[in-house]
Formats: sequence, C-alpha cells, structure tokens
Amino acid sequence: MPDPPIPPHPSLASTLRILRHYYGKPPAPISTDPFRLILWEQVAYLVPEARRREAYAALRSTVGLTPAAILGAPTNTLHAITRLGGAIAAPIRAARLRHSAELVLGHWKGDLKRALRLPLPQARRALAAFPMIGEPGADKILVFTGTARLLPLDSNGLRVLQRLGLVKEVRDYRTAYRGAQAALTPRLPRTRDALIGAYYLLREHGQTLCRRSAPRCSECPLRPGCPTGRSRGHDT
Ligand code: SF4
Repeated sequence: MPDPPIPPHPSLASTLRILRHYYGKPPAPISTDPFRLILWEQVAYLVPEARRREAYAALRSTVGLTPAAILGAPTNTLHAITRLGGAIAAPIRAARLRHSAELVLGHWKGDLKRALRLPLPQARRALAAFPMIGEPGADKILVFTGTARLLPLDSNGLRVLQRLGLVKEVRDYRTAYRGAQAALTPRLPRTRDALIGAYYLLREHGQTLCRRSAPRCSECPLRPGCPTGRSRGHDT
C-alpha cells in the first residue's frame, strides 16, 4: 500500500489561522506606550502572566507609570512590587525600573515616544538599551506602538516557527532571530493588531504544547503540516 501523501508545507498565515482557532482570540496588549511596555517587562520575571499583571497593577496603583513617579517612589515600595513579580532578582529589577526612568528623563526629555520618531535602526537601538529589553524586546515595543511592521518573537514563538520549518534553525539565538525576521518579512500579516495577535499565539503555543523539552505533538493542531511533529512518530 502506498504511503499517505505528505501534507503541504505550512504557511505562516495557515499556522496563525489554526492557532487562532485552537487558542481563541489573543489578548490586547497591556499598553501601546513605549515606557509602560518597558515597565511591563521589568516588573516581573519568569512568572505566569497573571502574576505579571498583578505586579504591573500594583505599580500603577501604588506608584504610577510615569518616569517622575517611578523616580519619586521609595526604594522599599519598588522592591515590594518587583517581589510581587517574582523572587528572582527583585531588588535588581527595582533598580532597573529606576534606571529606566532616569534614562527617559535624562535622554528623552521625559517622553520615550521621541525615540520612536528616529529611523528604525536607531529607534531599535534606543529601546534595546533599556535593561531587560534587548533586540527582540525592542522589536516588540516597535510593533506594539505601531512604529514598525515586523513579527515580534520571543524564544517560544521562534522555536515554534523553527520546528514548523518556516524559519531556519540556527544555534546562535541572535542569528536565528535576525534570520527569522528576514525570512518572514514578505509574508507578514498586514495590520498591527494581526502582528500583535501573531506574537501572542506563537508564544502561547510554545509555552503550552510546543515546549522546549517534550513537546506535546500528539495534541497539536499543527501536527499534520509540521515536519518535526511528523518525525516524532505517534507516541508523543
Ligand atoms: S507538532 Fe510538535 S513540534 Fe510541531 S508545532 Fe506541534 S508541538 Fe511543535
């Protein structure tokens, strides 16, 4: 009996359609303000999303989300809030909140939106200079603020696309990330909301089913078109 036909290679659009159907509507971003998006990254570390939301809400209600409010907050208050966002490096993250506020006030006259008006490579460098942001974090902010049209990817989303064969697997993370951006440019969703939705869907898939170790391929809705999932046989 002949082998069953191999399903066609997935496209980014079909992948996102399937994930949207499986996971439902992605959440709206917490903010479209660049400084607030930086605070969102720094206030918590390696905790579930709900805990990050709790820490961010505490920062908003107890201190405020402007650079001046962060700089005016007592150190103990900032520590208590970053501890809410996880035990790892909580005092360091509190110092990073303060350092970021200083950077905005000292470098951007209190308004980080000024950085978004620079040519894209310079805007990316300006955002990546903030603690815990880096290039992928800067790209995420550029998309969430409607400044750039690219696909923001965290390590989860990148892994999903690599396993699907939509971008190349490269050992070095920075090279892999840049290669993925170049490969995806011609096939990006058109709108900002669709790009943000794609970020959340790929991240969620990488966190729940397509996990770094022991991906749950047998439960995955993408398996028929996924070369990695098919190669893993029927026992995963
Ligand atoms: S089939 Fe497996 S490897 Fe492929 S996307 Fe799904 S979980 Fe990831």
